Amino acid sequence: MKVLITGGAGQIAYSLIPLLLSSNIFNTKIDLILLDIEPCMEKLEGVKMELEDSNFEYLNSLIITSDLKTAFSDIDLAILLGGFPRLPGMERKDLLEKNFEIFKIQGTALNDYAKPSVKVLVVANPVNTNCWITNKFSPNIPSENFTSYSYLDQERLAYLLQNKYNQRYEDIKNIIIWGNHSSTMVPDVSNYNSEIKLDNSDISTIQNRGASVIEKRKLSSAMSAANGIIKHITKWFHGSDDEIISFGVYNTNSYKFPEDMFISMPVKAYENFKYSVIDDLEIDSKTRTLIDISIKELKEEIYLVKHLL
Ligand code: NAD
Repeated sequence: MKVLITGGAGQIAYSLIPLLLSSNIFNTKIDLILLDIEPCMEKLEGVKMELEDSNFEYLNSLIITSDLKTAFSDIDLAILLGGFPRLPGMERKDLLEKNFEIFKIQGTALNDYAKPSVKVLVVANPVNTNCWITNKFSPNIPSENFTSYSYLDQERLAYLLQNKYNQRYEDIKNIIIWGNHSSTMVPDVSNYNSEIKLDNSDISTIQNRGASVIEKRKLSSAMSAANGIIKHITKWFHGSDDEIISFGVYNTNSYKFPEDMFISMPVKAYENFKYSVIDDLEIDSKTRTLIDISIKELKEEIYLVKHLL
């Protein structure tokens, strides 16, 4: 299993790599490639030294590089963590355009060098739009091979159910995050327990949890992000056992949402990186209104970069 992690010198990667290499997720050892930009190569060499000293059981080989061809050639799975961060005072449009350049180049590299069967998980923010850009520049790879990351938001929602509504983690299932991964995302527990009605404060807690972590840690979520990434790829690879989970997926026509965007939606995953969108759930009117707001925001993000295609 040849796995590429971009942003390999960053903080999520530092939490993710030990989780990825210390359990037998893919029933085989991993050929790991870490990509970062040239100025971070020294830091990446330090990560490599630590990997050597860790002797992880499921690491078969390791390459660190800043070269796209080396990074993307023949990979089976790409976990895209590397992106341009939002700097103080930066407008959303500037952030989107900076990331457009990165994901245009990486989408093209996927298309040119990766296996056509490659699976791609985009984590770098703004994640739904970055996933859309990557997909646009990889016409040889089916859109369903791309997913954007919502699993951390789902885990945050599961924690809220335990903490506030006294639910047991092992009982919680079929909870959904809808829309754009941003402060407009929409948590929905109605398919888990229709008696639990999330109030506005619950919704806001989930929408702003990432920002709350940044406020305290002065850094964005990394441990929890890594944990959710492992759950996302494990369920994508092995299946979700009939449980509904949330992936950002390419929308064709589910729920009459606009087409041609990556929207966080309910899916069931099956073995060997297959999944299907669950497109027949009831959505109450309050939830639907919130989802429409989130999708409108996503549409605006795409509008801001579409002219660059
Ligand atoms: P970080 O700043 O610690 O690391 C990012 C790394 O990416 C850096 O080493 C940087 O040099 C590298 N990078 C930048 N441009 C690159 C490129 N073109 N090619 C390869 N590498 C490149 O950030 P982090 O905390 O690890 O977070 C990574 C991303 O994940 C951020 O965009 C963050 O906003 C996002 N994130 C998303 C979620 C989510 O739930 N979707 C949660 C947490 C973080």
